[in-house]
Amino acid sequence: MCGIVGYCGVKQASEVLLEGLKRLEYRGYDSAGICVGEGGCLTTVKCKGKIRELRSIVPVDLKGTYGIGHTRWATHGEVNDQNAHPHSDCSGNISIVHNGIIENYSVLKEKLQSDGHVFKSDTDSEVIAHLVSSLYTGDLEKAVKLAAPLLKGTYGIACVHADEPGVIIGARNGSPLVLGIGNDEMFLASDVTAMMSYTRQAVYLEDGEIVRIDAHGYTTSDVTDRAITKKIEHIDWELQEIEKGGFPTYMEKEIFEQPLSVERAMKGRLDKEIATGHLGGLNMTSSELLNVERVKLVATGTSYHAAMVAAYLLETVARIPSTAELSSEVRYKNPVVERNALHFVISQSGETADTLYAMRELQRKGARVLGICNVVGSTIPRESDGGVYIHSGPEIAVASTKAFTSQLTALYLFTLLMARMRHLSFEAGSRILEAIESLPGLIAQVLSNADAIKTVAHKYCAHGNFLFLGRGLNYPVALEGALKLKEISYIHAEGYSAAEIKHGPIALINEETPSMFLVPDDRLRDKVITSMKEVKARKGKIIALAVNGHGDIDEIADDIIYVPKANDILYPFLMVVPLQLFAYYCARKLGRDVDQPRNLAKSVTVE
Ligand code: GLU
Repeated sequence: MCGIVGYCGVKQASEVLLEGLKRLEYRGYDSAGICVGEGGCLTTVKCKGKIRELRSIVPVDLKGTYGIGHTRWATHGEVNDQNAHPHSDCSGNISIVHNGIIENYSVLKEKLQSDGHVFKSDTDSEVIAHLVSSLYTGDLEKAVKLAAPLLKGTYGIACVHADEPGVIIGARNGSPLVLGIGNDEMFLASDVTAMMSYTRQAVYLEDGEIVRIDAHGYTTSDVTDRAITKKIEHIDWELQEIEKGGFPTYMEKEIFEQPLSVERAMKGRLDKEIATGHLGGLNMTSSELLNVERVKLVATGTSYHAAMVAAYLLETVARIPSTAELSSEVRYKNPVVERNALHFVISQSGETADTLYAMRELQRKGARVLGICNVVGSTIPRESDGGVYIHSGPEIAVASTKAFTSQLTALYLFTLLMARMRHLSFEAGSRILEAIESLPGLIAQVLSNADAIKTVAHKYCAHGNFLFLGRGLNYPVALEGALKLKEISYIHAEGYSAAEIKHGPIALINEETPSMFLVPDDRLRDKVITSMKEVKARKGKIIALAVNGHGDIDEIADDIIYVPKANDILYPFLMVVPLQLFAYYCARKLGRDVDQPRNLAKSVTVE
């Protein structure tokens, strides 16, 4: 879920580990720690709280050229110093960090306790240190290989032993782990951002693989000692992309990057000559695409809202029955895989556990599953049958913004492709293609209205409850607007179809509960206005996100945020950006930590 860093080399490990952990801060965490080895001795420093607190207690003269570090997002055991990682065995000779959940930890712990092991924390993770210790006979790699098959659940692990200086053993099952190759130094991390200041050469581990690194190289194998040859990948993100670049927060930077990120998502993918989308990575022939009779999109959180928009669009524009489903529900419902169905899984990180497991379940049943992901080389793209990279560049803020609009861009292009293979004429295809092409400029126009959005946000941010209401393609956008506000400002917000309020939520309307109405210039506009009037009649305050130039909304809405007029299908983009900004300015005004909101993690690699 959170972060692992490991280092073997010539530098002082504590500095490299602290810097690596700092780079992983964006994933959200509650405690942090490092363990550094030197002269047959391991020193661990850990605490709850932020990396800066950890840094303040790490002795400046802490010596050692290898070590491991961790940011914890607690799953088992409260957030306190004792439960922070690294964890050690009774002797203090073995130290481990772990991401994930050891599901059978209580059985293992009981057994180890009855053998005399004394536990110091309430975590599931500590059991790994004691288990490895109980199996250790002078070779750490061997002990980890014996321990791994006994662990049930998910893990990314890094492990060191005081008697094997300069060596780190890593193991992976379900939680990401990648190693970085430097000159006379090697890195291990849960995420490449942790080591990007040092190297661009990465090797991604697969489930079931064990890695041994020292300053000079690495070996990869499985628990049966079978050697595995790995491909070295090049990390093509730039360092400045993981820095704030003059913005006060990553989230603001990422919101304002959207004209560029959306452009990147469509680059080379607009085929004007035949008015269609060109998506090279689908790994499907035209006749296979033509045989698709149903599309199922599977995702969580913000990606799920992108899936909902796409399902609506695919059905209305490409005339293919399409549904969006939550990954966590798909996995456990014994999903029916229809013969001519095409599945998409959508995940910014490509590591979202619920989505990854749903994909595997679908694949086990014979489904063809394509991924829509941002992080190149992550697990979903590696295991899916094909897919589309959205090329947003690193998304560091926990609350997703630019990944959403880029996911939409990819899915719009896919819709265009499918529609053009079926009924859509060249002319109609060209209109959609031109509309998609105009998006960066239109998003830039919306962003130029940021000050007006800020004023509205400051006016309303003291309210404790909000409703977000939209219809059609913009109904999922209303859900997304509510989610953004909840995530970063902690204001309670609910998203609904505007048509649905009369079936229940209207009971919540009073002067204290403002409603944010999404009112694009589409064929449902009048219906949305009717819902606005129903709210108005009950003294509800109304903010309208609307297109310039109609007097009728001025009479009903208390405040209006204007968006440019555009092709109907583009409004999800033009509506979501002001909602991101609205949530952002509310949260900033309320003094929230927008990049790392409480209790949330960026890449959710636990179920
Ligand atoms: N389950 C472990 C704990 O609660 C690890 C959580 C994590 O991935 O940070 O300590």
